[in-house]
Order: sequence, then C-alpha cells, then structure tokens
Amino acid sequence: MYEGIVQDLIDEFGRLPGIGPKSAQRIAFHILQTENFDTSRLAELLVDVKTKVRFCEICGNVTEETTCSICRDPRRSPAVICVVEEAKDVQAIERTREFRGLYHVLGGAISPIDGIGPDDLRIRQLVQRLADDTVQEVIIATDPNLEGEATATYLSRMLAPFGLRVTRLASGLPVGGDLEYADEVTLGRAFEGRRLVSE
Ligand SMILES: [Zn+2]
Repeated sequence: MYEGIVQDLIDEFGRLPGIGPKSAQRIAFHILQTENFDTSRLAELLVDVKTKVRFCEICGNVTEETTCSICRDPRRSPAVICVVEEAKDVQAIERTREFRGLYHVLGGAISPIDGIGPDDLRIRQLVQRLADDTVQEVIIATDPNLEGEATATYLSRMLAPFGLRVTRLASGLPVGGDLEYADEVTLGRAFEGRRLVSE
C-alpha cells in the first residue's frame, strides 16, 4: 500500500475493466514519473467525454449529437440493420468496410447469471425501428460466445413473425471471444457468408 492519493489513484485505475493491480500501479507511476505528462488534457477529456458524449437516439451508438454519423449518412442503406452488443462492435464492423447498412446497439447481451434479460437491452427500440416496412434484413452480429448465442436465439425467434430476412454471421469467428477481437478479414468473411435464420 502506498500513502494517500498515490494509492487512491492506483485503486481508481484498478477499478477499470481489464486493468489488474499491477497495471494500475504501472499507469499511476507512469503519470507520476513522466515529466511533461499532460494531466490537464487527460482530466479535461475525462470530464468532456462524460458530459458531451451520449448515445444515438436511433441506434444507440456513441455520438456527440442526438444521432450518430452513421444514422445521418444518406449513402447508407436503411433497408439493412446489423444488430450488435456494444458500440465497439460497430467500430470493428466498420473496419471491414463490408457493410453499408445501419446498426442497432443492444447495450449488452442476455446473461441470466448477471441478471440481464431482454428487457434490459435496447430490444424494444429495435422493434420500433421495424414498424414501417423500410427494413428488409436484420443481421444478428452478437458475440460468438454463450451470451451472444443466447441473445441471437432470442432475437431470431422474436423477429420471425415480422416477415423479414433475419441472418446471423457465419461461423468461423473465434468461438468464446468478442466480435472486436476478430481480424478484419475473418469478420468480413463472416459477413459475406451470413446464414439465414428466418424469413
Ligand atoms: Zn445511430
């Protein structure tokens, strides 16, 4: 244990996802020991990101406006919606340059162990987007793990009565992992080879 605020800083970093005690200590000491470390820039960004960034009213992606740049882009096809768990998955799919439709960010996946059910996700908002007949296809691109599969199964059953094309990304993605860890080529192929779940 360090004295006072040094330990406070380490503890705060340690609370962040994916950062263990050793990494937390390394980051804290990097900030302490680096001359000219721009602390005010970092502090400003932390405040700004929490006050300025919000979630797109249509798709749930991150944005500084009411709607995100993808939803506002007239060149994107409103006939296809790709459903993902998190905003970071939107970035992963955008990197493949395979997809020219719109997204819908669920804000997580169904996970009974963590107490997350369908009502905790942005599924109601997805159904609202299907109200007019603009959308022809829904691509389910949840993570290739247990929660992602459970969410995909739930969605494909729920979407079946809508009479639209429902597809799921092809297998070949690293099982058990996150969509964002798949390389662009693999993810691009999974997109091209998506299979029909219901029509
Ligand atoms: Zn959007």
